[in-house]
Amino acid sequence: MTTAPLSFILESAHLQQLFDALARHGYHIIGPTLGDQAIIYDEITSVDDLPVGWVDEQSGGTYRLHQTKTPIYFGCTTAVQSWKRWLHPPTEVLWRARRTDSQFEILADEQPTPRYAFIGVRPCELQAIRIQDRVFLEGEFVEARYRARREAAFIIAVNCGRAGNTCFCASMGSGPEAREGFDLALTEVLEGDRHYFVVKTGSAAGQALLAEIPHQPAGDAEIEAAAHIIADTSAHMGRELNVDGLRDLLYRNYEHPRWEAVAQRCLSCGNCTLVCPTCFCVTIEDATNLNGDEAQRVRKWDSCFTMDFSYIHGGSVRYSAKSRYRQWMTHKLATWVDQFGTFGCVGCGRCITWCPVGIDITEEARLIRAADNQTVVNKKANHDESV
Ligand code: SF4
Ligand code: SF4
Repeated sequence: MTTAPLSFILESAHLQQLFDALARHGYHIIGPTLGDQAIIYDEITSVDDLPVGWVDEQSGGTYRLHQTKTPIYFGCTTAVQSWKRWLHPPTEVLWRARRTDSQFEILADEQPTPRYAFIGVRPCELQAIRIQDRVFLEGEFVEARYRARREAAFIIAVNCGRAGNTCFCASMGSGPEAREGFDLALTEVLEGDRHYFVVKTGSAAGQALLAEIPHQPAGDAEIEAAAHIIADTSAHMGRELNVDGLRDLLYRNYEHPRWEAVAQRCLSCGNCTLVCPTCFCVTIEDATNLNGDEAQRVRKWDSCFTMDFSYIHGGSVRYSAKSRYRQWMTHKLATWVDQFGTFGCVGCGRCITWCPVGIDITEEARLIRAADNQTVVNKKANHDESV
């Protein structure tokens, strides 16, 4: 009895045929491309739109691109913004209304659901999408537009062949290998003159699409080459976050002096929340035109770093930068666990790269843990001296 191979080979020369097949099925292809001197996820139509040969250099508050002579398509790590820009857009009109003689008429929602094919989704980003699924689809209320976009999406993951300096997906168990949540998953391999992708299928739709383009079963050596790339990436993470007991560590350190120290640097700009692939908070604005004939309700991304975010009656609950940073980080790494059953952080590193002052969530957690451990040690020492 023969078993179907789990991995296949797609020669890089045939990558365009993958694009063509997606286009034939009516997908808008969204993938990494150059924009504003960075890698962004945007609509692309051909392999020539991919950032061939470019690699990114990310660190706290720093982002640079370098061009190399390699033909690698997916040499960059995560783009500036995540896929939430497409699944949970920054601005969305929820409804419009028009004045009739005596009242307002609500206008039907005429926006068709876009069919996106995301190419280049990193494993940590797959996990982030899974987390947003939990928020928008698996609670008491289902977000209908998110569900429609999600159900229409085709996902091509790309395993990471290089870890960025701010990446820590290995700590969060979210990468650098895609395990589920994709239709196809690629590992890009460049061996001398040979350039190919090891492809895994993750759904019937993925299998059907792969059947439309030239491919062949992967041999042991090719599978091993892909595994080696992923293992090497895992061994070279730029950052590490010790998640052992992290939730309780933060719960017992609400008054840790580190919150004040980080508040001295935090600008409350909200960048970290906007680039974060899991942050989902929104605000609602109503607007009318100048003559009052038409109105619309718009949903926009919000950030827990604004004063308005926690405005209740007569003022904001979180009026200091200390309370806002503490809220954000404690939500990501502690209360999210109670709320949704996972951390709200996948280790993509964006909040570190795009923080204008380079505040680093892994470093803050490390320093809180260090002083927490110190407290325990001191208490023990005092106890030992007194007995
Ligand atoms: S908290 Fe930072 S590292 Fe974690 S998922 Fe959000 S942006 Fe990425
Ligand atoms: S932590 Fe950094 S990115 Fe986030 S609000 Fe503060 S200054 Fe802005």
